[in-house]
Formats: sequence, structure tokens, C-alpha cells
Amino acid sequence: MDDRPRIETRAVGHGEDPGATLRGDVVSPIHLASTFALPELDTDLSLEEVDPAEGQFLYSRLNNPTRHALEQRLASLEGGDHGFAFASGTSAIATAVLASVEPGDHVVAFDDLYAGTRRLLETMVRDRLGVDVSFVDATDPDNVADAVRPETTLLWVETPTNPLLRLCDIEAVADIAHDAGARLGVDNTFLSPYFQTPLDLGADVVAHSTTKYLNGHSDSVGGALVTDDESFADDVAFLQQVGLGNVLSPFDSYLVLRGTKTLAPRMRDHEANALAIAEYLESHDAVDAVHYPGLESHPQHDLAREQTAGYGGILSFELDGGLADAKRFLEALEEFALAVSVGGVESLAELPAAMTHEPIPKAEREAQGITDSLVRVSVGIEHVDDLVADLDRGFAAMRGQSVSQ
Ligand code: PLP
Repeated sequence: MDDRPRIETRAVGHGEDPGATLRGDVVSPIHLASTFALPELDTDLSLEEVDPAEGQFLYSRLNNPTRHALEQRLASLEGGDHGFAFASGTSAIATAVLASVEPGDHVVAFDDLYAGTRRLLETMVRDRLGVDVSFVDATDPDNVADAVRPETTLLWVETPTNPLLRLCDIEAVADIAHDAGARLGVDNTFLSPYFQTPLDLGADVVAHSTTKYLNGHSDSVGGALVTDDESFADDVAFLQQVGLGNVLSPFDSYLVLRGTKTLAPRMRDHEANALAIAEYLESHDAVDAVHYPGLESHPQHDLAREQTAGYGGILSFELDGGLADAKRFLEALEEFALAVSVGGVESLAELPAAMTHEPIPKAEREAQGITDSLVRVSVGIEHVDDLVADLDRGFAAMRGQSVSQ
């Protein structure tokens, strides 16, 4: 067993050091300065020697005290040595990919990825950088092994996936990557480090859209990478600070620092509500299928039990009907906002076929199982009885019944 303080403790305090300021601030101040005055002109000073851990800062794109505190916090939560905070989850993922490939290389990716990541891999990496990308069903590690080639340098997965909540075995895929001399990246946005820590399972880099659970309040867009691979960390630092200049602002860094403090209790509430709703939906006659790894009926429930400390707050379900029924259902909801995104304290519902996954051609979407009546919900931390009553309201509207309050 490791001797780290538990995640609840790290989430509240790690990265913020009251001794770092003269007044002993117990929360990190928002440092807005874009540049920092030097005590003297040191002609031998190199950028590498400016050490944020020693309270030294030069220019806020390179490093900033509030962002530095957040980066330390994120590294601590994921159990890695190096954390980086970006302006979005997308830019974090793009940076991880750019730090791992060059023209002629090959990437193997899960075929069930966030639609934006898939487009990034197709349009930027494959079409513009000349890096071939194979999308495979990574629920079976043999498919990943079969797709690996001598020139493969990166494997990229999400688990569970969006919106079908399919899993991949991180340890097995990490072994495949390392046998091939490649790196494994895991987008851990859906479970957060409270429920899953991919670096402990052999992954080399973890990515997040901090926009989701890490911030948790739907009021900041940001992203993160955490790694314990030194040479990768050097490449990421160069890209983040010099090559691309893609950093999270001090104010957003403060918001995410604040959000992470309540990560543990929020995740517990998200999960308890999601499990209750998944069970309610599973027994509803207007629902054909429920996708949630916490249900025993989920085909990879055993893997979820082994690999994760919990099942998270996101699920999807298939309505017994078509697009028009799904529209009536979604528009009748009052507690679930009809909105994309996940991971905030408020409940959200959306129709992937018309919203998040609309850019994927219909035939391809349907082959993956994303039908016109598949609804995805991000279950919030409201009282679960009110959420169930709201879903009842949706089902009544879908069936053209009068909606009772
Ligand atoms: N990864 C996952 C799993 C996501 O759901 C999202 C956004 O929805 C992203 C990455 C992209 O993050 P952002 O919107 O912060 O760029």
C-alpha cells in the first residue's frame, strides 16, 4: 500500500502552501501579474533555473503561482510527478499527442472517444501531420494488440467511454503499449481521480477536461495532463509554455483549485444518485437499455469493479421510441437542463445523435450504437427523488400523457 495521505486530504490541501506567502494565506491568492520583477540582473540565468517550487517566477505564460499551485494539486490527485494546466481539455489532449508523435508514426485509439478528440486525431494528426491513426474496439485488448505496428508511438483511450460507457482494461493496454515501446494516454475525465488513477495501473499520461468533475461547477473551461514520465514532461512543458503558449488563466486555476477541494463528496453524491437512477431506468418499460458500469447487467461490470473505486455519475439509456419521442422526453424535463457537457453539480441531459456526436456520420454513429433515441445524462447532486420525478415527467410527456406536478 502506498503511504500517501488519502485523496480527500490531498484534494483539500496539496499544492497550496500557507508558508508560501508572507501573510500565510490558507488558500492560494489569484496572482494576476503577467511578469515578475527580478532582484538583480543575473547574466547566467537560464529559464530552466527559474524554479516555481522555490517561489521563483519570471513570466506568467511560463509559470504563475496560482497555476503552479493547481498543477501541484492535480499531480498529487493523480499520483504523478508532473502536472500541467491548459486552457481546455482539448488543448491538453492535443499537447499530449503532439509530444508523442512525429510524421510517419502511428497512433492506436479507442473507437469510442469524445467526438472532439476523434476529430482532432483525424483532421490534425492524420490529415495534417501524416501520422496514421487506427481506431479499434478497445473493450477487447486483443484488438489493440493486433493494431499495434513497429511505428506505433501512442495508444489513446477513454474508460468509460462517452456516451456508451464502455470500458477498457488499462493494465492490459499499458502492457501492450510498453511491449511495443509506445506510450499509453488515458483520458480520465469521466471518473476523475477519485474513482480511477490510471498512472497506478501503468498509464504514462492522464488527461482531463477540468471543465467537468475537477472544477465541478460548470463555470470554467480548462484541461490538464499529469505524468511521471520525465522526458514526456519536458516535451509537454516546452509545448505548453513556449511552443504553443497554452495555459490556464490564474482565475480559472483558482476556480479549479477551489473545485477540487470538494471532489470527494461530490463524486460520492454523483455516484449514489446515478446508481439509483440507473436502477430506476432499468426497470422502466419505456427504456430498452441502460448503460452504466455500476449495473450488474453491464457487460464489463466485473472489470469496472476491479479497475475502479466507483462507477461515476454519467449514464446513457435507450428510449423505447424514436427521435420525436426523445425530443418530447428531453423538452419536458425541468431539473435536467438540456445541455452538452458533464460533471457539474447540476443534472444535464442531452441527445448525443443531435448534439455531442452529431458531427459523426449517421451510419457510423449507428454502427457504434449511438441511435436517435439514446439519451445521455450527467447526474448532479440534487435530491435523487426530485430527479426521478423529473424523469417521470419526461416519460409522461413522451407518451403524450398529461404531466402531473
Ligand atoms: N475529454 C472528454 C471525455 C470530454 O467529455 C471532453 C468535453 O466534453 C473533452 C475531453 C474536451 O474538453 P474541453 O471541452 O474542456 O476542451
